[in-house]
Amino acid sequence: MSEQRLPRHRHAPQRTCAICGQKRDKRELTRVVRTAEGLQVDPTGKAEGRGTYLCQQDACWEHALKSQALGKALRMTLNDEDYERLQQARP
Ligand SMILES: [Zn+2]
Repeated sequence: MSEQRLPRHRHAPQRTCAICGQKRDKRELTRVVRTAEGLQVDPTGKAEGRGTYLCQQDACWEHALKSQALGKALRMTLNDEDYERLQQARP
């Protein structure tokens, strides 16, 4: 458990996981965004649209894939294709 704390990381943007609510460095989270084609995973973190974040914990992905939690966060209803894209992006 050696956690490096480099000064230049102090101001790294923090985002909150939509499932567990933990704040983390934005780069440690996966952004998902609501688009006209449904939910898309946004590896760049810069896609247009309403987005929310998922941390890398297995339990959070498990929950996200088995509930409408992300759909609620994004104000949309997730369909099978949305879940499939999510499944493929799972860390
Ligand atoms: Zn989480």
